[in-house]
Amino acid sequence: MKILVTGGAGFIGSAVVRLAVARGHSVVNLDALTYAACLENVASVADSPLYAFEQADIRDPAALARVFEAHQPDAVMHLAAESHVDRSIDGPGVFIETNVMGTYNMLQAARSYWEAKGRPESFRFHHISTDEVFGSLPADPAVKFTEDTPYDPRSPYSASKASSDHLVRAWHETYGLPVVLTNCSNNYGPFHFPEKLIPVIILNALAGKALPIYGDGSNIRDWLYVEDHADALLLVVEKGAVGRSYNIGGENERTNLELVKTLCGILDRLRPKAAGSYADQITFVTDRPGHDARYAIDPSRIRAELGWRPSVTVEEGLEKTVQWYLDNEAWWRALQGREGVGQRLGKA
Ligand code: NAD
Repeated sequence: MKILVTGGAGFIGSAVVRLAVARGHSVVNLDALTYAACLENVASVADSPLYAFEQADIRDPAALARVFEAHQPDAVMHLAAESHVDRSIDGPGVFIETNVMGTYNMLQAARSYWEAKGRPESFRFHHISTDEVFGSLPADPAVKFTEDTPYDPRSPYSASKASSDHLVRAWHETYGLPVVLTNCSNNYGPFHFPEKLIPVIILNALAGKALPIYGDGSNIRDWLYVEDHADALLLVVEKGAVGRSYNIGGENERTNLELVKTLCGILDRLRPKAAGSYADQITFVTDRPGHDARYAIDPSRIRAELGWRPSVTVEEGLEKTVQWYLDNEAWWRALQGREGVGQRLGKA
C-alpha cells in the first residue's frame, strides 16, 4: 500500500512511518516541519526506496493537491496537528487553523483525488485523534471512554480535535469518502518531544531540576507505548471497517504522581544519584486551567474486531523509554533549544 502520512516528522507520525516502511509499505511523509518536528525521527528510513518526504503545510490547499497528484496514495493517515494542550491555552488560534481548517483541507484534497480516480472503495482516509475529545471521567474505574461516549472537549486542543473528528465523519456521510477514525490515550516512548510530561520528568531529573507536577498529582491518564499505537493504526488502516471509529488504549491508568514516582524509580536503578532518590526533586505546581481529572479508554472494539493487543506492559515501556533518553542525549539536547520549550510543563 502507498500511504500518505501527515505529521510524519512528529512523535507518533514518525513511529508510524518507521513501522510502515519496515512492513513493506511505501510512505510519503508530508510535514510542515513546525517546532515539534524532527526529521531525525525518521532518519532510519530516510534512504529507503519506500520512503519520500514532502515539506508541505496542511493549511495550504494547493500544496496538498500537488502532493496527492504527484504521489497517488492508496490511503491517507492524517496525524499532522498542533498537539500540545498547554500551547493551546496560551495561543489557540493556530490549533484552529491547523487542526480544524487543515483537516478540512486534507478532506477536500483527498475527496477531489478520490473522486477523480472513480471513487475506489479500497481508498482510506484514516483520521488520528485523541481520547481528550470525550472530556473528563469520574473516578469510578468501571466507567471508561467507549466509541459511543458523547463528545465533551474542554481545552482548545481537544475542541479543535473534536471539530476535526466531526468533519471527517461528515465527509463520509455526505460525500461517501471511505474514512476510518481512531481515538487514542496518552502516548509515550522514544522521540517524544521534550516539552511533554514524561520527557520533562526524565530530563529535569537528570539535570537536577525540580520535577513539576500539576496540582496534587491525582489526575489520571491512560498510557500507551507509541510503537503499540503505531501498530494499532496500521491495523486500522488495513483492516478497519469504513465509517467506523476505534478507541485505542493500553488499559494503563496511572495518576501523574504514580507515573512520576515510577520514572524516578527506573532512573534510580539505571542512573543512580550520588545520594537520595530522584523522587526528592518532585515539586507540586499550580494546576492547569480546566485540567481534566481522568481519561481511560475501553479498547474492547479494536481487540475484538481487529485482534489488536499492546506488546509491552507500561513498566517495560517506561523502562525502554528512560533508557532511550539516556542513550540519545544529542537528540533531546538539540530540541531543548527550540522556541518555548522548557517554559511549559508536559501535557498530561
Ligand atoms: P507532534 O506534535 O509530535 O507532531 C505533529 C507533527 O505535525 C509535527 O511533525 C509537525 O511539524 C506537523 N504539523 C503541525 N502542523 C502542521 C501543518 N500545518 N502542516 C503540516 N504538518 C504539520 O504530535 P504527536 O504527539 O505525534 O501527535 C500526532 C497526532 O496524534 C495528532 O493528531 C494528535 O492529536 C494525535 N494524538 C496524540 C496523542 C499523544 O499522546 N501525543 C494521543 C492521541 C492522539
